[in-house]
Amino acid sequence: MKGKIIILSAPSGTGKSTIINRIINHPGLNLGFSISATSRNPRGEEQDGREYYFLSSEEFASKVAAGDFVEWEEVYPGTCYGTLKSEVERVTSGGRNLIMDIDVKGGVNVKRCYGDDALSIFILPPSLEELERRLRGRATDTEETIAKRLGKAEYELGFAERYDCRIVNDDVDRASEEVAELIRNFIKG
Ligand code: ADP
Ligand code: 5GP
Repeated sequence: MKGKIIILSAPSGTGKSTIINRIINHPGLNLGFSISATSRNPRGEEQDGREYYFLSSEEFASKVAAGDFVEWEEVYPGTCYGTLKSEVERVTSGGRNLIMDIDVKGGVNVKRCYGDDALSIFILPPSLEELERRLRGRATDTEETIAKRLGKAEYELGFAERYDCRIVNDDVDRASEEVAELIRNFIKG
């Protein structure tokens, strides 16, 4: 049996990666993380082939031209992210459920493409002020990058209603458990 698709989206800094790291090995969820390709540089401790496949802009463009992506977006000006077809196959062909950390436009597109085989979850920050604190607290981005990400947050929050469900990440333990519960119910159904 093929695995299902779990889509997680939120403005940058809300806590998607933190939540995914907490639940990825949860017993019973049988999750595999979708490692996206990106043209940005690694941040902090990130490693090629673990958080992302880090590509040059030229390499990214040639994969677009070759039709290697299920979807891709220029999420920030000059910075592209995309899900490779080979990645969806790698995880789902063995029956594992694919969990994707993907931007709002990509999330809506993937949900449209996979329909009832996909569950889309939007993670909300408690407030924009708290989002800014988290982006600064992460201490991995330049001021310019933080400003770009915050500038996009209100636009991204406008997509929340287009997702199947919404979870507020105020307390990370509670939010992670709520996300795990949504997935548990979805994969059983
Ligand atoms: P995203 O993947 O959505 O960009 P991250 O998972 O990198 O966000 O989280 C951004 C920062 O916020 C990190 O430093 C993380 O430790 C912190 N964080 C995540 N969830 C919470 C929470 N519920 N309360 C306080 N800080 C949080
Ligand atoms: P970050 O640079 O913080 O890791 O990610 C920035 C944004 O890119 C986030 O909104 C994240 O969800 C999104 N993103 C990561 N991978 C993909 C992908 O494969 N496709 C799309 N459309 N967005 C992605």
